[in-house]
Amino acid sequence: MSITRREFLRTGIAAASIGSVSGSLEAAQRGAREGIRLIRNATSIIRFGGRTLLLDPWLADAGAMPPVNNSPNPRPNPLVPLPLPAREVIAGVDATLLTHTHFDHWDPAARELLAKEGLLFVQPADTDRVRQAGFTNVQMIEPSLEWQGISLIRTIARHGRGDVGQRMGTVSGYVLKHAGSPTLYIAGDTIWCPEVADAIAAHAPDIIVVNAGEAQFLEGGPIIMGVDDVVQVCKAAPRAKVVAVHMEAVNHCVLSREGLRAGLERAGLAGRVAIPKDGEEILFG
Ligand SMILES: [Zn+2]
Repeated sequence: MSITRREFLRTGIAAASIGSVSGSLEAAQRGAREGIRLIRNATSIIRFGGRTLLLDPWLADAGAMPPVNNSPNPRPNPLVPLPLPAREVIAGVDATLLTHTHFDHWDPAARELLAKEGLLFVQPADTDRVRQAGFTNVQMIEPSLEWQGISLIRTIARHGRGDVGQRMGTVSGYVLKHAGSPTLYIAGDTIWCPEVADAIAAHAPDIIVVNAGEAQFLEGGPIIMGVDDVVQVCKAAPRAKVVAVHMEAVNHCVLSREGLRAGLERAGLAGRVAIPKDGEEILFG
């Protein structure tokens, strides 16, 4: 029994998932869907502008790393396993994008698994470090870069306030633009700050990915967004779809998905923010 193209397009994802269609049709269907699939923590697969990007790969097995020093809830990291094998996470990726190189965004397992000649986009502060790890195709985004019709623009992120923020070092976010695609802003490991407000004002993103686990040490305050920060993002970008990630995977993240959901409900903003489970994809269109 054959399936016509019209029938295929109507049956969509279900047909693709049971593998009953030809490779070319399946590829066309896949290519048409832009979105972000959360893997775990900030690690995500982003389909955008016809390309597939791997964001901030943290691919360690559950419990393979120690708790963060001087942090609440000291348990080995990652707290949860990957939702699929690490090799499947990286399969079919055209490039890797790093917001920074802290252990929960770029780890030994990722360095081991990724091809050394694979394309990596990094902030200037991490270029040498990533090259020294043996990667030969490292491109710095400063302040922007064109790749395969996609503009990647670096934005400033603040990984905490005061002394703690200083100690966290230089971190970045990125805006991705492509003709015919929604504008995507990946805020990175940042709290709500004037630079995030500026990025929203300058680029008017349609989709904003925020790291919202409210990570913190025993003192010094949060180093990534919590409920109030996400509320600020929603208010600054009233037409954007917000996707909240970086929860329930590192021990010093004190805000859970449920906690964020409840806080957003209290603020009347629950409908504005997608909170994917590990392995879940949020489509942009
Ligand atoms: Zn992080």
